[in-house]
Amino acid sequence: MLKSLNHIVTALENQSFWQGQQQFQLIRDCWAEVVGEDRAQQTRPHSLSRNILYVATSSSVWTQELSLNCRSILKQLNGRLSTPIENIRFSTTWWYQHQTLPQTEESEHPSLVAELEVSSPADPPIEQPTPQTTFEQWAAKIQARSQHLPLCPQCHCPTPLGELKRWQVCGLCATKQWQG
Ligand SMILES: [Zn+2]
Repeated sequence: MLKSLNHIVTALENQSFWQGQQQFQLIRDCWAEVVGEDRAQQTRPHSLSRNILYVATSSSVWTQELSLNCRSILKQLNGRLSTPIENIRFSTTWWYQHQTLPQTEESEHPSLVAELEVSSPADPPIEQPTPQTTFEQWAAKIQARSQHLPLCPQCHCPTPLGELKRWQVCGLCATKQWQG
């Protein structure tokens, strides 16, 4: 009995988690429209938690500017959302942190970063390496890069812990889930 209750609770939590993510996606989609292009370039919706939207700003000037207009932004956003959000917090703290959406985090997926580095080496060696040593260097790099990372339960790629905490899978798998 207790076990099946736990299942239900988990299912409900997952459901509200995904609803929140959809809501956040909507906010991201209309953000530039709501705040205007100038502000949109200096701000970025960071996350949505318990009906409070957290927005990263590029500087404290923008934090101030948007905080002053918080009410009208809130009103415009809520006009587009099925579940209204209650408040918006602006902070520069999140500006340099990793982006929260899988779409934008794709380039940070370890396997993708590796592919980019292989196809366009920034620093070509003077001696032409044999394909094997190139591969070995590449493999060693991947191993060094990924050995401390947990694996995505879905695709078994090494995945930053932050992605797993947020989506339970890696950014790529999360994106696929969204699109599917
Ligand atoms: Zn994955």
